[in-house]
Amino acid sequence: MRFRTFAERAAEMEAEQADLETVALVADLFVEAGADLDVVARFVQGRVVPAHDATKLDVGPALCYEALARAAGPNVTAADVEDRLASVGEIGAVAESLDLGGQRGLAAFGVGAPDAGDDGGGASDDGGDGGAASDDGDGLTVAEVDGALRSIAAAEGAGSTDTKRDTLFGLFNRAEPIEARFLARLVLGEMRVGVGEGTVRDAVAEAFDVPVDEVERAIQVTNDCGLVAEVARDEGVEGLADLRLAVGRPVKAMLAQAGAAVDALESWDEAAVETKYDGARVQVHHPGDGGAPRVFSRNLEDVTDALPEVVEFVDARLDAPAILDGEVVAIDDEGDPLPFQEVLRRFRRKHDVAATREAVAVELYAFDCLHADGDDLLEAPLAERHRRLSGLLDDGVSELVVTDDPDEIAAVEEAAVEAGHEGVMLKNPESAYTPGKRGKNWLKRKPDVETLDLIVTGAEWGEGRRANLFGTFLLSVRTDGRASGGDSADGDQAGGNPDDRNDGLATIGKVATGFTDEELAEIYELLEPHVRAQSGQEVDLEPAVVFEVGYEEIQRSPTYSSGYALRFPRFVGVRDDKDPADADGLVRVERLVGERS
Ligand code: AMP
Repeated sequence: MRFRTFAERAAEMEAEQADLETVALVADLFVEAGADLDVVARFVQGRVVPAHDATKLDVGPALCYEALARAAGPNVTAADVEDRLASVGEIGAVAESLDLGGQRGLAAFGVGAPDAGDDGGGASDDGGDGGAASDDGDGLTVAEVDGALRSIAAAEGAGSTDTKRDTLFGLFNRAEPIEARFLARLVLGEMRVGVGEGTVRDAVAEAFDVPVDEVERAIQVTNDCGLVAEVARDEGVEGLADLRLAVGRPVKAMLAQAGAAVDALESWDEAAVETKYDGARVQVHHPGDGGAPRVFSRNLEDVTDALPEVVEFVDARLDAPAILDGEVVAIDDEGDPLPFQEVLRRFRRKHDVAATREAVAVELYAFDCLHADGDDLLEAPLAERHRRLSGLLDDGVSELVVTDDPDEIAAVEEAAVEAGHEGVMLKNPESAYTPGKRGKNWLKRKPDVETLDLIVTGAEWGEGRRANLFGTFLLSVRTDGRASGGDSADGDQAGGNPDDRNDGLATIGKVATGFTDEELAEIYELLEPHVRAQSGQEVDLEPAVVFEVGYEEIQRSPTYSSGYALRFPRFVGVRDDKDPADADGLVRVERLVGERS
């Protein structure tokens, strides 16, 4: 496929606002891509290599501007390119506006553009472009661009900067304006056409008439959209279903949301609780055939060489293929955990690992198992995956407690914090492993650093079985005559109480989690005598009751009249011992924000 065809389609995608239309455009492009399908499936997302491959082009903006300037001829310097960028704001538009190819004669004589485009990278399929080649018959193909970008990524050591610049120059020098636009963006990793993995997934399903769920699963296990697109086209749904995890090819890590124990116990019959380690995420791939294990970081970089202890640990214990998920934690001489910054020192260290190993020891805590001895386990429930994990390793495995008792969860958390760890993770024991997804099946519950005592100034009626009780509570701080940081008149004020500042109060958030049914019933009894007004679902309350509230963070926010909002507020308890006059004030909120920033 001509690179120009790709660029023209990318421009259409960029102009398209509607998601469904974008999917249709990408699907059409995939059908036409022929032998370049895998490359095109990556390029539309601004990727040069598959997502499982952390190889970087390592081309900074300066190098790109230099290559562009050189292709624009002797009257344009890298500084000129930068100036244009400052006024235009986007490198693609700048590249498109330059009169490139000024040095085409030079390239033709082999000066300055060694091998550009001749590095292989797959067959080019120029058929079907109907004369889209440039006038001089020297049009770039998708395969050439792919080959050249890969050779840029592979360039290493002395002289590699020159090689990269020369190769880029060679590409820009042959690019038509619209090609230059997308080439520059591709090189700098800012494609900006609004196509991500989800769009590619939908487009593959549409283009090759395969179920979207199968495409999704295939992308999760391979982490390679290009491969999945090809398999969908060539082998259909059966081919997709045959795609498996591969040892050595990392998948995205499953992610967690913030949440509280009540959320977990309300959503699932039982919760699996385990220590949340304060370290760095790793995925360990053990081939089990005598080959060396490889360790990947959360962003899928190969960090094997930086973590010899992890390699030795799994090597000594595993003799079958396995893919493990876990956390690497730095430990002191007593084996107690150190803050995660310490472990990052080890990740950053590429050379002199032995010396850093002396200074900071690390330990692996495995908490999940994606593959064991020929079995892909992504779809197995967590409890079973954990059993398989415990069968593989008899130490270094996080302990998983499955319970429906909030007190037991609290006890695990207390023990974890006592041992110097960060807190606990709450997981749905029935849940599958979903790579790259931040779903509701894993909740991170960090203990609150400090709580706030806040005055309840409004409420909203609950829903469902809680319809006769209040379910959400508006919280306020004392302002003590101070002007609050917010500039809005708090349109969110329950019951429309515009003069909350006249009360010496300013709103700071709403809390709706952390309550048991009994607590909500008691709170209703407490608040009901203080209702001042009601409108729709909302009631306005006179300041009387104080809640102790936990949160993850305090943010500046125009939503509430204090100028701040609590992130993930969580009810801790009623402060029966406190009057509104004893509640926390804006001064304390500002101090807490200041300490964190
Ligand atoms: P956060 O980085 O705050 O979003 O928390 C999620 C991270 O906690 C994960 O990506 C892991 O690196 C880390 N973590 C620590 N212990 C566990 C555990 N037992 N299960 C899952 N993730 C954990």
